[in-house]
Amino acid sequence: MLVNYYNLSQALLKQVDEINKQTGIKRKLVIHGCCAPCSCYPIEVLDEYFDVTILYTNSNIYPREEYDIRLNELVDYIKTYNATHGSDVKLVVPTYDNVSYTKLIKDRGNHREGGEICFKCYEMRIRDAFEYAKQHHFDYAGTVMSISRQKSSSKLNEIGLQLQKEYPNIEFLIADFKKKGGQNRRDELSKDMYRQKYCGCVFSYQEYLKREEQSKPAM
Ligand code: SF4
Repeated sequence: MLVNYYNLSQALLKQVDEINKQTGIKRKLVIHGCCAPCSCYPIEVLDEYFDVTILYTNSNIYPREEYDIRLNELVDYIKTYNATHGSDVKLVVPTYDNVSYTKLIKDRGNHREGGEICFKCYEMRIRDAFEYAKQHHFDYAGTVMSISRQKSSSKLNEIGLQLQKEYPNIEFLIADFKKKGGQNRRDELSKDMYRQKYCGCVFSYQEYLKREEQSKPAM
């Protein structure tokens, strides 16, 4: 039965559902997942319609310890989710290369979070999903990042649709996971999970440290 998830295109879900029924095989989706709290609700929604692979392509995250903490939380979540739902959500973890990644976003230090450099950062990770989809013959590519209050869903969708033009056989999964109760459900599902204190890159990490310093009471 189709569930009304208004944060995804109803026409798309209907189409996917029909193809799944006709072929007896779920459409294959690879979706960039940045962490467990942001991925849990999208997994719950998408698992009904797609053969879901989460791509943990997050070389932006600094330091390595933080990258590992977020990854381990996601590994645990997917393991538990699959065991309790009888599902087969997969997780793919590409090589971590923060040094190269940081060079590509080196101007972020001169820009605010959520600006042009961040759009480039979104694009690099969504492109990774498209590349993976192309190499492994997936039908759809996407990202879970629209669940985040800090990220513009319209910008993420704009970037994804732009990339789609370069990958003719792959469709971008337009989504606004934060809408229609998505964030509440995410908060509920992730209440016991590790929550990061900053977006990810070294620049956002330094800004976080500065905020912490400034919030300390004067001696
Ligand atoms: S603040 Fe976040 S989105 Fe922006 S460049 Fe850093 S890691 Fe990427």
